[in-house]
Amino acid sequence: MTIATPHFDDTNRVRALCALRVLDTPQEERFDRLTRLAAATLAVPIVLVSLVDAQRQWFKSRVGLAASETSRAISFCTHTVARRDMLVVEDALQDPRFAANPLVTGAPDIRFYAGQPVFSHDGEAVGTLCVIDTVPRAFDEAARQVLRDFAALVEDELNKGALVAARMRAEQAVHALNGELEQRIEQRTRSLREANDTLKREIGQRLAAEETLRTSEERIRTIVSSSFSAFVSTDASGVVVDWNASAERTFGWSREQALGQDLATLIIPEAYREAHRAGMQRYARHGVGKVINTRIEMPARTREHGDITVEMTINAFQAGGELFFGAFLHDVSERIRAKLALQQKQQLLDTVLETLDVGVVACSADGELTLFNRAAREFHGLPPQALPSGDWAAHYSLFSGDGAHLLEEREVPLLRALQGETIKDCAMVIAPRDRARRYVLASGRRMSGPNGEALGAVVAMKDITELNDSQRKLTINEQRLRAITENLPALIGQVDKAGNFTYLNTLALRFYGREKAQLIGQPVRQAYSAPEFEKVEQFMKLALQGKRVSFEDELTVEGRSSHYHASYIPDIDAAGSVNGFYAMAFDITARKRSEIRQRDSEERLRTVTDNLPALISYLDADLRYRFANAMYKQWYGVDPAAMVGKSVSEVFPAHFCGQREQQLRRCLEGHTVQLELEVAHGGDTRILHSVYIPHLRDGVVLGAYLLSTDVTAARRHEANLKALAHTDTLTGLPNRRSYEAELEAALGRSVRNRSGMALMFLDIDRFKQINDTLGHAGGDEVLREFGQRLLRAVRKTDTVSRLAGDEFTVILEGVRSPEECASVGAKIVEAMRPLFSVGEMARQVSTSIGIAWTNSAASDARALSTQADAALYQAKAAGRNQFCVGAGTK
Ligand code: GH3
Ligand code: MG
Repeated sequence: MTIATPHFDDTNRVRALCALRVLDTPQEERFDRLTRLAAATLAVPIVLVSLVDAQRQWFKSRVGLAASETSRAISFCTHTVARRDMLVVEDALQDPRFAANPLVTGAPDIRFYAGQPVFSHDGEAVGTLCVIDTVPRAFDEAARQVLRDFAALVEDELNKGALVAARMRAEQAVHALNGELEQRIEQRTRSLREANDTLKREIGQRLAAEETLRTSEERIRTIVSSSFSAFVSTDASGVVVDWNASAERTFGWSREQALGQDLATLIIPEAYREAHRAGMQRYARHGVGKVINTRIEMPARTREHGDITVEMTINAFQAGGELFFGAFLHDVSERIRAKLALQQKQQLLDTVLETLDVGVVACSADGELTLFNRAAREFHGLPPQALPSGDWAAHYSLFSGDGAHLLEEREVPLLRALQGETIKDCAMVIAPRDRARRYVLASGRRMSGPNGEALGAVVAMKDITELNDSQRKLTINEQRLRAITENLPALIGQVDKAGNFTYLNTLALRFYGREKAQLIGQPVRQAYSAPEFEKVEQFMKLALQGKRVSFEDELTVEGRSSHYHASYIPDIDAAGSVNGFYAMAFDITARKRSEIRQRDSEERLRTVTDNLPALISYLDADLRYRFANAMYKQWYGVDPAAMVGKSVSEVFPAHFCGQREQQLRRCLEGHTVQLELEVAHGGDTRILHSVYIPHLRDGVVLGAYLLSTDVTAARRHEANLKALAHTDTLTGLPNRRSYEAELEAALGRSVRNRSGMALMFLDIDRFKQINDTLGHAGGDEVLREFGQRLLRAVRKTDTVSRLAGDEFTVILEGVRSPEECASVGAKIVEAMRPLFSVGEMARQVSTSIGIAWTNSAASDARALSTQADAALYQAKAAGRNQFCVGAGTK
């Protein structure tokens, strides 16, 4: 029999039932209590809590039924579950749905059934609470309500576990969520804190950077504003945005005036402006510029002082996205001018030194040779090309003035000068390796800087070889010395041991401003004022004690104040006693002044040029003096310092200028000019040899170097040499050569005038003895005195000559007879009678005389001489101290 079983999709319902997790669990009092109560309350034998599974119904609690489950196919509860509402079957036998149901037809013999569905918490009808009776029953509303109530209690119990589990799950989920949330909050907090730290650090760094920037900016600003160099800044278009105090000084525009101006217009000379602007623009556009970050020299304009030269370093920098230029500018005009001036002075010195006929050598403070000028190279036989200074000495040897001994190192004038000695006219012989010897006079001194530091020494040498002929050595040297003492730019004097002047050169006389007669023989004390004398007295005392002294001082004499470098050299005789001293003083006023203006090189130039016996000057292209040495003062009486800046015609009178200016103009056209002129100054006449040398640079004549040397002595000497050829140097009488010429001339005149003449030969008696007793010098003294007495004994028209040794001759003209000759002979013998005094000694000197007389045209010089010689022989033979007139031609 088929029982109608409702069919519906209960997949969800079964899943909900399983989820309650009560199927097949043990019996529980909480359900059983309810089923018992329901059975009692509704007075039914069977009460079930039936859970409708997929294939069965399983009883969680049962009252009055043994089976724990039944098939679903016969289950009443399936119907209840399907309709989801209470199902009441009052009499099953009467109900077609259940009449054939085995549970009705058999045990447990169900007649009455009431079932109320119970729902899971999610609303599925998972089972029922049902009451069953074996007899039919009515089931009123009150009973139905009781069933519903119990079912609701069962439902609660059923869902309790799931609800608890759900709540626990929910709580766990909340807990987990909470934990996760906390974790996330913690993470977030941590990352926030880290971000915060980073931010703080960054802010700190930024603040520090800003502070550094600010201080460095401040520092830069301070440096810039106080910089010794001008600092100028412009924007990209060249408009001035910064202008420091130095820029105000350099360019003459105040900061207020300069700011906002176009820099190029303000300080760049017009000729350079375009190039400057183009350069700035090129840099602004392409970021390249030749002058950026390099140091350049360029001309610049100032507001009031014309163009100057500045040294510029320019930089480009970005600020606030804009380009700016910053330039440091330093006025170097003065430096450049000074450099040029120095170069010019150096060139002047070089030119002078190369042109001068005076040899100049110099050494450094440590004795190393630093200079040999052209003349000095020639003297020493050095080649014109440069040699290492260490090799110079190999080319020559130096000897003493008489050529007798090799100079030891300490005797070499340059080294003596380096030791502080002032050398004056020290005679010396230079013997080059393969050339003739040179006789020179060396003068020199130490060179010192403005603070007294040693710079070295310089020696000037005058070549006197030509004047040094051995026969005339003594005379020439003496003349030479005098010429040099007179011409040197030094005051030279001699003082005896009593402190009286015995000699003063012209310059010294001029210095004291008095006549020779007022000073020579007078005490030195008288030449000075008391305070001025005090300055020199101490040194005079030392010199008179035999000490060589040098000193520098300012002396005021006759109201003129000058600086002098003076040396006192004691005059010590062979016996070692001091006879007085020689004084030499150099006017160093000019040097002192120049020391203030120019330093070492100027000093060197001055020292050298002022020590040279030459006029040295430099004229610029306008023929204005730029330099003149101290000799201008001595030779022309013009102050060289006052000459600077003046033209030739402003310094010298018109008659002086004509020929010179004409030659100077030729020189400015590039020609080297030489001329020799006579110059009259202070009563004496000098002959000056001048050379004008153009100063050329890059083919342009910038000026002229003038160099004049005094050749008076040389010219006079040439004249002297002529005279010396006819004169006996010892006695000053005509010599043999002029005697011979004179005898021929006198014979000629005697024939022409038909008058008689005589020739006397004189020979001093026993002169060898005189030499032996008085010495050779004493003998010389006798010869001189003998000559003088002879001259006085005869007429002016007669000619007295010295032939050689102790032989003299007298040519007597207009002698009428041998008797007249005899009276002259007697007069001469008589003239020799007074004692000859030689030094402290007195001595008898006599002579023998042979006389030849003639009035015949036939007699010649030779015959007359033979006759006189024979007569002399006779006089000697007859006992000397007498004359003999020879037998002549009548
Ligand atoms: P006598 O009476 O026979 O003339 O005897 P003497 O000694 O004078 O002999 P003699 O005339 O022959 O000698 C001249 C001497 O003069 C020889 C020489 O030594 C010396 N004598 C020659 N020239 C000079 C001179 O320039 N100066 C000096 N001091 N002596 C000279
Ligand atoms: Mg003699």
